[in-house]
Amino acid sequence: MASKSHWSTSLLTDMFKPENILKQDDHVVIIRDKYPKSKHHYLTLPKETINSITDLNTSHIGLLKHMALFADKFIQSLLSVDCQGVKYKMGFHAIPSVPQLHMHVISTDFQGAGLKTKKHWNSFNTEYFVSNEEILKQLESKGKVHFDKFKFSDLLHTPLKCHLCHKVASNMPQLKEHISKCNIK
Ligand code: AMP
Repeated sequence: MASKSHWSTSLLTDMFKPENILKQDDHVVIIRDKYPKSKHHYLTLPKETINSITDLNTSHIGLLKHMALFADKFIQSLLSVDCQGVKYKMGFHAIPSVPQLHMHVISTDFQGAGLKTKKHWNSFNTEYFVSNEEILKQLESKGKVHFDKFKFSDLLHTPLKCHLCHKVASNMPQLKEHISKCNIK
């Protein structure tokens, strides 16, 4: 019987499967997020094995800048075809949950089948979602990337709030119902 790869390492193998690759060059690859939290949700990953943001050092500054430019070009190509008007943001989770450095590229509709929990919501809609610029700032000033585990984990438990009008919702079904209408405005 073929052995199944463990979920926590599958990103590192799945990113090299040709059928998963949407765009690549010698250094970077873009794949679809397997459990999308929005209508358009992609991951940009370096081909070099780098476990996490905490493994970055100043030698990776060029790579980080390249990842952002590469993802930006990818977004522009999507926008010019059939996703006109779609808004995106890109960034990292302060405390990533799976190995291999990955930068999220996500449209801000948050209408994905994978968006199920308060943690999911807050990981994209609080300071837990960290921009590429913030990562670069830390690398350039301190030579490393650090986010306090307790402080940032707490952000995942903050009240659910619509990212557009800031209305507070009591639970995920209520929030999802609200944002589906708020998005139309
Ligand atoms: P995080 O580590 O918190 O930045 O989130 C990891 C992201 O990777 C989640 O959005 C998952 O849905 C996604 N993910 C996990 N495994 C895979 C996989 N094998 N292929 C594509 N996306 C994945």
